[in-house]
Amino acid sequence: MRCPYCNYDGSRVVDTSHDSRGSIRRRRECEACKQRFSTYERPILATPLIVKQDGTREEFDSEKLIRGIRISCAKRPVSAADIERLVGEIEAALQAMGRAEVSSRVVGDKVIAGLKKLDQIAYIRYAIVYLRLGDLESIRTEIDRLLVS
Ligand SMILES: [Zn+2]
Repeated sequence: MRCPYCNYDGSRVVDTSHDSRGSIRRRRECEACKQRFSTYERPILATPLIVKQDGTREEFDSEKLIRGIRISCAKRPVSAADIERLVGEIEAALQAMGRAEVSSRVVGDKVIAGLKKLDQIAYIRYAIVYLRLGDLESIRTEIDRLLVS
């Protein structure tokens, strides 16, 4: 581990501790300048590849998802933190599935379910685009479903 003070590539572990989330924290001392610093080790879960409607695959892109959701939430009382939390929860749920690939539908359904709880107008906006609700009848059906649920 390279020393952040002098860049020397050698350090000695002086203490190791675990935090509640399973991360390992190591207190280190540089062998050259003797400054102390900490490093963290934590498990990184793989996010599955997203299989799009046309069969192509792409990496899960949280920034892109945030942009899409933000458009649906324009001028609605949904904070940037709410959107980031939703996308973080979706990514964690995808990782927990433990699969190499998931359909983009799975992602879309999770966004819809999350927005439904956050803001109903944002939800309808997203659903119109995502579910390709192309006419007033299908939008009304969706709103009716929302009103009874
Ligand atoms: Zn050093």
